[in-house]
Amino acid sequence: MCKTLKLCVLTAALAAVLAGLAAAADVTAVNELVDRSLQWNGKTVAIEGEAIGEMLPRGNYAWVNVNDGTNAIGVWMPLADAKKISVYGDYHHTGDTLRVTGTFSRDCAEHGGDVDIHSDSVQIVKTGGAVGHPVSGGKKAAAAGLSAAALLAALFCFGPRAKRR
Ligand SMILES: [Zn+2]
Repeated sequence: MCKTLKLCVLTAALAAVLAGLAAAADVTAVNELVDRSLQWNGKTVAIEGEAIGEMLPRGNYAWVNVNDGTNAIGVWMPLADAKKISVYGDYHHTGDTLRVTGTFSRDCAEHGGDVDIHSDSVQIVKTGGAVGHPVSGGKKAAAAGLSAAALLAALFCFGPRAKRR
């Protein structure tokens, strides 16, 4: 039995909050990019959102539309990355959740002045499926944070106790 239960709970709660903040902090909302496109132009950005519609292959590359709930943007990515996406969002499906890091352009010279992101990396954060009760990326991050926090709390409780005067 943990004798410092209150402190453990507090530690766990704090760790979970910090994990949640860290997960949210390094992703930029698509609408923020579009709204303040001058400021973000040419910068490396990370977004997380749902692959929607369909892949549009162009040689060794492909366009994939990513919607993060605030707005949608075209992501120019290697065809090999696009092929990793198994589900695209439509009326009946929730698309795969992608985490894309890449260069944001407000008027891409290569693509006729379009607003787009040229990917450096594409990760599938969550596989989509038929529309049901999807677990959001945020909840997933919070769950991961809680697990880490529980581990920390366990270490704190069951590890060597600090000496007290
Ligand atoms: Zn482009």
